[in-house]
Amino acid sequence: MDIVNMTALELGKAIKNGEISAVEATSAVLDSAEKANESINAYITICRDEALKNAEEIQKKITAGDLTSPLAGVPMAIKDNICTKNIKTTCASRILGDFAPIYNATVMNKLESAGVVTVGKLNMDEFAMGSTSETSYYGVTKNPWDLTKVPGGSSGGAAAAVAAKISSAALGSDTGGSIRQPASYCGVTGFKPTYGTVSRFGLIAYASSLDQIGPVAKDAADCAAIMDIISGKDNYDGTSLDLPKSNYLESLTGDVKGLKIGIPKECYNNKGLDSEVAEKTKAAAKVLEEQGAIVEEISLPFIDYVIPAYYIIATAEASSNLSRFDGVKYGFRADEYKDLTDMYNMTRSLGFGKEVKKRILLGTFVLSSGYYDAYYLKALKVKAIIKKSFDEIFSKYDLILCPTAPTTAPQIGKSLNDPMAMYLSDIFTVSVNIAGLPGISVPCGFDSNNMPVGVQLIGAALSDSKVLNAAYAYQQATAFHKEFPEVK
Ligand code: GLN
Repeated sequence: MDIVNMTALELGKAIKNGEISAVEATSAVLDSAEKANESINAYITICRDEALKNAEEIQKKITAGDLTSPLAGVPMAIKDNICTKNIKTTCASRILGDFAPIYNATVMNKLESAGVVTVGKLNMDEFAMGSTSETSYYGVTKNPWDLTKVPGGSSGGAAAAVAAKISSAALGSDTGGSIRQPASYCGVTGFKPTYGTVSRFGLIAYASSLDQIGPVAKDAADCAAIMDIISGKDNYDGTSLDLPKSNYLESLTGDVKGLKIGIPKECYNNKGLDSEVAEKTKAAAKVLEEQGAIVEEISLPFIDYVIPAYYIIATAEASSNLSRFDGVKYGFRADEYKDLTDMYNMTRSLGFGKEVKKRILLGTFVLSSGYYDAYYLKALKVKAIIKKSFDEIFSKYDLILCPTAPTTAPQIGKSLNDPMAMYLSDIFTVSVNIAGLPGISVPCGFDSNNMPVGVQLIGAALSDSKVLNAAYAYQQATAFHKEFPEVK
């Protein structure tokens, strides 16, 4: 059986039926990961021995009928900012180079209880700061569709691993688009849940009010199955919501009749928008319309303010969150220093990369007295306006449809030379985090260079099932998500 070509749900079913064992599935994925990782660099750590040992234990439980999750025995890979007990969790930073947590993130405990096998830890932008996966201390991840292009970021390793079929599915994190945008660049499906739906305990914080863990997978059904496992109230996360037991997978009906979808005109008037991306995402709206959805033009009046507001809020929170990395509590410490202050200075100067330092400086600046009101407070006011505008839209519409990113994947090296352009490329994703909404990126075609295009569906807070179902309906009618690159 062709293990690496199966979706996570297909693989889980074959394991349940005894056609494949969890060990066979895991070793097939490990073999392909070890082989392709040389060219793609999607993994920072591959844990062959632990994975095979776990798969064996899990198989015993499956055989005994003790594990009934639809994903029991399925191998998955995890973004390297999610804490995995005794497995290195580097955040793609030098400063956490040797950090092996003594505890699991809540999502990892949940995956383990469901019998999912962790095969490794995935590359990313350092501390999830970036849109290209080029700021990793462990080297650039390559886009499996074209190795000269970036996979997107910051969950670039997750999207590249799923696209290259070197992981059945993955967990990423999304602070301003880091699940959806790489999913779009790599032609896979990535879902960012409503804020508070998935516990952030054990997710190394970038910007706590925006961060959310979510699935990157071959299709929306796999995302729903993963959401059923990882979502739920967690007392270790004060922002985690107490919601009724989820059944995302069961609620996939594929029925979108009468669903009202708004298409923001500002997205399509954006000067940075590539014409092929515009065309393919509009065609995706047509497909949903043919399935019975009602599509109308809407307005997102706040769009020009989302990037400045996001980069103020995110860097402010980052500057505070990253103060804990001081050479005392975790990982790396500089070898040479004069005194305590110098130890902090040297450790942080050598331990953090350029992008991270830039953001700590910016965040410290916008929070400093004298500038706080002018920048941070103003950004919070913009946040309130964005939330209110979304509320108004969602009082009339079920979903918003727009491109995930203005272009397809850029060449490696291009974005870091023009950081402003890179920040602007987050324009369609960041407002979703600012308002805490669910959003998904779904493959909807290819540009003339055969690079994948993603379309984004956004819903009201807690309408995660609706978002997943519309993506599922779209994938029932199209086959873009079934295209995979030939990795050289
Ligand atoms: N590109 C955005 C940033 O650099 C989003 C990152 C993310 O979602 N983690 O902040």
